[in-house]
Amino acid sequence: MKVGVLGAGTMGHGITQVVAMAGHDVVMRDIESSLVEEGLESIEATLQGGVERNKVDPETMAATLERIDGTTDLERAVREADLVIEAVPEDIDLKRETFESVEANAPAGAILASNTSSLSLTEIAAALDDPRRAIGLHFFNPVHLMDLVEVVVPEQTARETVDRALEFVDGLRKEPIVVTDSAGFATSRLGVALGVEAMRMLEEGVAGPRELDAAMKLGYNHPMGPIELGDVVGLDVRLDILEHLRDELGERFRPPQNLRRKVRAGNLGRKTGEGFYVWEDGETVGVSDDVEREVGR
Ligand code: NAD
Repeated sequence: MKVGVLGAGTMGHGITQVVAMAGHDVVMRDIESSLVEEGLESIEATLQGGVERNKVDPETMAATLERIDGTTDLERAVREADLVIEAVPEDIDLKRETFESVEANAPAGAILASNTSSLSLTEIAAALDDPRRAIGLHFFNPVHLMDLVEVVVPEQTARETVDRALEFVDGLRKEPIVVTDSAGFATSRLGVALGVEAMRMLEEGVAGPRELDAAMKLGYNHPMGPIELGDVVGLDVRLDILEHLRDELGERFRPPQNLRRKVRAGNLGRKTGEGFYVWEDGETVGVSDDVEREVGR
């Protein structure tokens, strides 16, 4: 299969790598050649790491790189494609414009997929003359390690498009789940629901962050607790998603005050060194002072 990937950033280069490893020819496009080069270098570095850890054999690495081409030329990236996956920044106007220009340059039978993590696929698809071929393929970061792909189905999509997308994801040796296009899809909605309830429980003094995280890790076998996960994802990102889900789904997703305060204070989690936890070198080293006060322990 020939695949065009738009965007060579975190997701674009990750998707390019797994698609090429599965045996497809990929043309990866970004808007500047330096960005294309960076994406290609990241792919090479990840594969090299795999070779060093004996996860990837050197022949597979060479064959994978052989199947990848980089360009800044949109037409070249999509003109022979059976499938185009866009991973450009999360902006509805940019996604719609991108879909329109892909439709103008790609073969009539090509599937047009978006890797959006939160925008309405139905709205993106509506930019097309033929929206029956639009679909969401929501990959997770880092793409080569994460097994799930949410196949998000907009209102207009043809059954055949869904079937072809599922076959494609199977071929990547990833696990597809089919989700009707709706706010937060399955993953963000469920993940954020748990996270927001945990923050409310902190506010109510039900338990401290370590206890709430242990409850889910040890009681439910989650690899990471909901408070720690919020800090890892970034509390600003969490707040944005909550605002969006509240607009779409109602007050049960209303952001709690403790989250708003953290974001206003610039305490965004692991990336700033403090969120609900205090972080050093990527590890938690304590609980934030105001959280200690709040839960009284
Ligand atoms: P990123 O900023 O790392 O990469 C986006 C790239 O797209 C940039 O290199 C940018 O130069 C390029 N770009 C901008 N306009 C373009 C165009 N018209 N054509 C081609 N390339 C263009 O962003 P990202 O984290 O890779 O996110 C991309 C998409 O994936 C977003 O929709 C995001 O919501 C989604 N997503 C991100 C994650 C994540 O964890 N980062 C996870 C799942 C989904």
